[in-house]
Amino acid sequence: MTSTRAFEIAGRVERFVRDVVVPYEHDPRRDHHGAPLDELVHEMRGHARTEGVLTPHILKGGDHLTQRETATVLIASGLSPLGPLACNTMAPDEGNMYLLGKVGSPALKERFLEPLVAGRARSAFMMTEPADEGGAGSDPSMMQTTCRMDGNHWVINGRKTFITGAQGASVGIIMAKAGDVASGGGACLFLVDLPDPAIRIDDVPNTIDSSMPGGHATITIDNLRVPADQMLGDAGEGFKYAQIRLSPARLSHCMRWLGACIRANEIASDYANRRHAFGKPLIDHEGVGFMLAENLIDIKQAELMIDWCAGVLDTGSLGTAESSMAKVAVSEALMRIADRCVQVMGGTGVTDKTIVEQVFREVRAFRIYDGPTEVHKWSLAKKIKRDWKAAQ
Ligand SMILES: Cc1cc2nc3c(=O)[nH]c(=O)nc-3n(C[C@H](O)[C@H](O)[C@H](O)COP(=O)(O)OP(=O)(O)OC[C@H]3O[C@@H](n4cnc5c(N)ncnc54)[C@H](O)[C@@H]3O)c2cc1C
Repeated sequence: MTSTRAFEIAGRVERFVRDVVVPYEHDPRRDHHGAPLDELVHEMRGHARTEGVLTPHILKGGDHLTQRETATVLIASGLSPLGPLACNTMAPDEGNMYLLGKVGSPALKERFLEPLVAGRARSAFMMTEPADEGGAGSDPSMMQTTCRMDGNHWVINGRKTFITGAQGASVGIIMAKAGDVASGGGACLFLVDLPDPAIRIDDVPNTIDSSMPGGHATITIDNLRVPADQMLGDAGEGFKYAQIRLSPARLSHCMRWLGACIRANEIASDYANRRHAFGKPLIDHEGVGFMLAENLIDIKQAELMIDWCAGVLDTGSLGTAESSMAKVAVSEALMRIADRCVQVMGGTGVTDKTIVEQVFREVRAFRIYDGPTEVHKWSLAKKIKRDWKAAQ
């Protein structure tokens, strides 16, 4: 069970999302592939600030809610695809704030974290590299972006792709690999101000999803000079820090998209109760009723999986295996729920009259980012083999 304070915050967030954010769902201020423009985000955030629900998972003074408490709040913020943007609980900022809070020095927190928590800035996390150039994707050890020391600066070169929100962000976290042990060795993370002339946005492709401002950019980093004190944590520890971010961040995606699927299911249930075919409401046709019943079961299982994994993270564990299990179970369940919602609503389900078709598209992409289903299953299989060997 989560706490009374989390229920109280989540209650306010839910009322805000339903009453204030949902009416914005048809606001035309979108970019060429449907993502909300920053002007729209800032307007909604102004309302969230007034209502006291901006960045609701980080308390005054900087304390973060526990993961189980965060789940209650983020599910509520996800009830609209615009809710996380309005409340500043969205990806990638929510995960970036978490990482900075855990690993950042006081100076880095003051400079880069505070504007994010205040909802004045957006950020980007730059790890993935173009597949057609043999860069890091599912396998981060294939990282090709390099960093090398030059005096009191690091010089970074490389290409990145699918970088959510890079267009329009003011804070960037870049992962690069130091070439030799003398300069730290291994993966390093850097905090940078954006935009920067040495970080060029080459392309922002149209993608299946449309909820994230700035889309998912492909970027060239060309001799970017970063002062040494803008390294996040220690040299060579980049993969470890990424892991600190990735487990809670993938669980946060589960929370937000569960909220969206709960709402999609409400819309589909309403449709099935109102709409008649063959002399009775759709809900009374077993084929439709069973789809909605299966949705309820999948929603409850997703809630339980999130709560269980959040509880593990709250013990201080990295929760690598647990978050893999939760990510696979929840993202696959959400895909089934969203698909059934579309089906129950017939032709209306594939139109943009409701958020159901968007939720279906968003959840499809979620089966890939923060680790594709197969990669999580593969890493779990490796763990099964390791545990089996250890037991011999
Ligand atoms: C909408 C969206 C937003 C994103 N945002 C960001 C971001 O902000 N920052 C960032 O750094 N990255 C981001 N990414 C990148 C994302 O993390 C990668 O797409 C993901 O890690 C997969 O890498 P890849 O696309 O190179 O796929 P590949 O590595 O080419 O893999 C392709 C497919 O191969 C299969 N596969 C791979 N390895 C295995 C295995 N071991 N066993 C079985 N099957 C396997 C999987 O089915 C996988 O989907 C985003 C991606 C998307 C789609």
